Amino acid sequence: ADDLPRPESTRVITVANQKGGVGKTTSTVNLAAALARTGARVIVIDLDPQGNASTALGVEHRADTLSVYDVIINDVPIEEVIQKSPEFSALFCIPATIHLAGAEIELVSRVAREQRLRRALDLFLEAAEPRFDYVFIDCPPSLGLLTINAFVAAREVLIPIQCEYYALEGLSQLLKNIELIEKHLNPSLGVSTILLTMYDVRTNLANQVVQDVRDHFPKEVLQTLIPRSVRISEAPSYGQTVVSYDPNSPGSLSYREAAAEIARRGAPF
Ligand code: ADP
Ligand code: MG
Repeated sequence: ADDLPRPESTRVITVANQKGGVGKTTSTVNLAAALARTGARVIVIDLDPQGNASTALGVEHRADTLSVYDVIINDVPIEEVIQKSPEFSALFCIPATIHLAGAEIELVSRVAREQRLRRALDLFLEAAEPRFDYVFIDCPPSLGLLTINAFVAAREVLIPIQCEYYALEGLSQLLKNIELIEKHLNPSLGVSTILLTMYDVRTNLANQVVQDVRDHFPKEVLQTLIPRSVRISEAPSYGQTVVSYDPNSPGSLSYREAAAEIARRGAPF
């Protein structure tokens, strides 16, 4: 089941939703770990000043650590910033530090402020040997310049949606923003994947949300649902993904299955 097809070229996937707490970071690190576990070469770019993805992957991100901030603001090449994850030899992380909180403002006056991550990433990926299979970009819960940088650097958007009452609220705003980026800054961008998170089989409401999202986005929604699980939420406090913290727990298995779906579907455009 773990024999997954490799993409023909690097798939760059931005994980975005301007709502906080919907499972962006959890999905980013666990999908990345699940793919790296099968031997795919994977990079996680932590683009949230909170640094939660860096924490969950167990990589150093103290204030004086070189980070994605230095890439975007100080033109430091990615090879000087990228770290190996302690969990999987094929998994890498470009960490975020507290400095990234200022980047949103600092970017405003920069030349090519929307393209800075894209340029650095393209340079790095072109020279990388062996080549990388996946790049996942974990976004902050806003639609500011950092998220715009992520949209411009990527081809695919993955939207995690929490199975709760307000799930679809704000989604049209997100889709409108993605369309604007596509029109003005990155014509190759599109929503490839929607992942339903924190699913609780016992509630009718969760089932209603699943049905609604499937009706609206029949092509994009993954079959796999990510269940609400304590193992998933406690893994980051050990600096681990659930995929290595408790590999056969239902939460880990569901992320592995979702990752397999993403790999088997291949790049959609
Ligand atoms: P975001 O990055 O969108 O803000 P997170 O991935 O940080 O969201 O998730 C928000 C909170 O919910 C975190 O405390 C996380 O551990 C928890 N969480 C995420 N997914 C699950 C899940 N499937 N089951 C239980 N808790 C979860
Ligand atoms: Mg997050």
